[in-house]
Formats: sequence, structure tokens, C-alpha cells
Amino acid sequence: MKLETMPSDFQKALPLLTKIKEAGFEAYFVGGSVRDVLLGRDIHDVDIATSSYPEETKRIFERTVDIGIEHGTVLVLENGGEYEITTFRTEDVYVDYRRPSSVSFVRSLEEDLKRRDFTVNAFALDETGEVIDLFDGLTDLDNKLLRAVGQAEERFNEDALRIMRGLRFAATLDFDIEEVTFEAMKDHAPLLEKISVERSFIEFDKLLMAPFWRKGIKALQATEAYNYLPDLVGTIEKWQSFLDSIAEDFRFTNSEQAWAALLLALKIKDPKAFLKTWKTSVNFQKDVERIVTIFNYRLEKELTKEEIYTFGREAILLTEELRQAQGMPVDFELIEHLDKELVIHDKHEIVVNGGILIKELGLKPGPEMGRFLNAVEKAIVCGDLANEKDDIFSFIKGLTKGA
Ligand code: ATP
Ligand code: MG
Repeated sequence: MKLETMPSDFQKALPLLTKIKEAGFEAYFVGGSVRDVLLGRDIHDVDIATSSYPEETKRIFERTVDIGIEHGTVLVLENGGEYEITTFRTEDVYVDYRRPSSVSFVRSLEEDLKRRDFTVNAFALDETGEVIDLFDGLTDLDNKLLRAVGQAEERFNEDALRIMRGLRFAATLDFDIEEVTFEAMKDHAPLLEKISVERSFIEFDKLLMAPFWRKGIKALQATEAYNYLPDLVGTIEKWQSFLDSIAEDFRFTNSEQAWAALLLALKIKDPKAFLKTWKTSVNFQKDVERIVTIFNYRLEKELTKEEIYTFGREAILLTEELRQAQGMPVDFELIEHLDKELVIHDKHEIVVNGGILIKELGLKPGPEMGRFLNAVEKAIVCGDLANEKDDIFSFIKGLTKGA
């Protein structure tokens, strides 16, 4: 099959293919961008595969960066763009089910395409627009099917991350998983325990953020792969309630919101500990936990200015969206209104601080002054006190008298 028009991203990168060919080697566009062009989707990164070895590639181009030379990848800066050019390779021996123990560079495109995960990810596109399709990926594209390249059992045994990738592609592309591939994913799911948690997280996160995330979760459910992911063993019935609790057409706004929804559905008691097991950043843990806290708070109480101040408008809006997705009453306008009414959004905006109180009111540093400052902050947030020096001073004098 031949593409009638080359998308502009490929056209811009065409001179690179030509240069490599002029040097006597083969070069093709490969990977997700070729798949996405065939699906009429936008492409993000243009990957190039070549028969030239990394040292040879570096001699062809003026500006290169060694970004993954041991895997055969050289970054080339050309025509105002950055392109990853990777030598054709096979990955033969996987000793630890994670990463190939050795990468062998080869001169054959076919060998390179054979080691790729799914047929729709194993196309190559040459400079004339001809699509090289060695595994009938075009038929799978038409049928919206995700099929492993070669022997599915072997492929997931080599690298169990492909199971997570499979679930993720089902969710991003709206593809079904072909039967033999599906069975092999299911059979090899226990190997997910050997995969680095960070890599599983990246795939799971992409799944949740995908337009067809429900499809990914259904596939996760059906493969029972969750049993081999951190802290998810035995969550069998909870996935259905996750799906059932959220409106069909809802898409998560960001990862923090998605993971909060997941934690709520799974009834995870300690969000931070759970997300720590998933090796996420401390900031991510805090942001997700905040949404979970607000969600639970909102089940019992109405929002006031104090919550907007404490949790921040953004986290509250994300939570409100989750409530909406679950068919609960929401009030976005109230949130915006309360936020606008807030005199301060951060305690550093208070016109008075500890230093000023010491200097001008003769207060001593210590826990009592901390309590005064907290009381000032609260009174300003609730609208009972103006953020003005004189008002604050009299407020504090009142407190000292009362003490
Ligand atoms: P995306 O659109 O999300 O970037 P992609 O298909 O380009 O999806 P990448 O992770 O960027 O995925 O990988 C580029 C290509 O490398 C894939 O299309 C696939 O051919 C191959 N690939 C990546 N990871 C694996 C893997 N674990 N096993 C086999 N092939 C892989
Ligand atoms: Mg890619």
C-alpha cells in the first residue's frame, strides 16, 4: 500500500531518509507515528530506523547527540527538528523478563520489525510513501484488532510490559485484543510482577487518560492482570464498580483526578501508601490524596471559603468533575464565586508576619505567636477580618487580652 500524501511531519523529516540512503544504507519511518498516520490520527514523534550502525549514523549527520547508543539510538538535530534514529536490532535473550540482556544490531529491516510488539506497531514507511507491512497489520488496523507480532506466548514471555502496553493501546486506539493475543496476555500476566513498577505506572496512567479508558479497564479485568500489579491483588469485583460508578462518556482531566477516582472505587484506605508502592512522586501522592479527601468531605458537608482556601480551587474543581461524573449534585458556580470572594489565597499574602509582630507589637517568638497568626489567617479567610495592618493589630490585641 502506498500513502497518497505524506503528512507534513514526515515530509519535513524526508531529507534525513535521503541522506542515510545516499550514504548507502536503508532508512524508514517506523513505530507509532506510522500507525497513527494510517489511522488518520495526529502524530507526535517521528521515529526512524536504519541499517546504519550508530557510529555510521553519526558520521552522516553534523549534529548528533548520543541518547541511547547502547540501544542503537542517536538523536539527530536537523531542519529545526529532533529525530531519534535507531539501528535495526533484534532483542534475543531476556533473562529477567524486563529488558533484553543483549541487543544485537542487524542490517535487516525484517529482523527489526519482528521484535516489535503488535502488528499495528510494526509498519515501516519508506521515502516514497510505500507502507511495508510484513505481518498483515493493515488488515488488523481495518478490523481494529491488536495482535502480537509472531508467537504471542513467546512475545509476552520475553517482555511482560507488552501486556500493559496491550491494555493501554486498547484504550488509546479503541481496539479489541485478538483472541490468541488475549489468551497469551492472560497466561503471562504473573510475569508483570517482574516488571519495574515505574514502567507499569506509565502504561497504566496512559490507559486511564485515554479516550477509551473503559475498554482498557475491561481488558484489565478480563485478563485478571491486576492481580500482579502493586497492591491490586484480589480487587476482582471492584473494577466493575469503578466502571459502573462513572458516566459512560466521562474522560479524566488529568492523572491526579484519574488515580483519585480509581482509589475511591477500590476503597483504598491509605492513598499515599498505595501510590508510594506505585513509586510515584511525593507531589503526585499529595495531589491525589487531596482530591480523595475533598471527595469524602463533600459527601458530608457543603463547601465554604475555608475549603477553597485550604485545598485550592483547582483540586476542588477536579473533585467536582468527579462528582458530576458520578451523578452527584454539583455547583461549579459556587466554587468560582467563593474563590473570587477570598481575600487571600496564601498566607504569604497576609500583610503581617511574625517579624512584624515582634518588631511592632513587641510579641515574642514561640507557639503563642503561631496561634495568633493562625487565628488571623482564619479570620481573614472567613471574611471576619480585613487584611489591613491596623485591623490585624487590634484583632491580636483582643486575643492577648482574652488570653
Ligand atoms: P505512542 O504513540 O504512545 O508513542 P508507540 O507505538 O510509538 O506509541 P513507543 O513506546 O513510542 O510506542 O515505541 C515505539 C515503537 O517501538 C512501538 O511502536 C513498537 O514498534 C516498539 N516498541 C516499544 N516498546 C516495545 C516493547 N516493549 N516490545 C516490543 N516493541 C516495542
Ligand atoms: Mg512513540
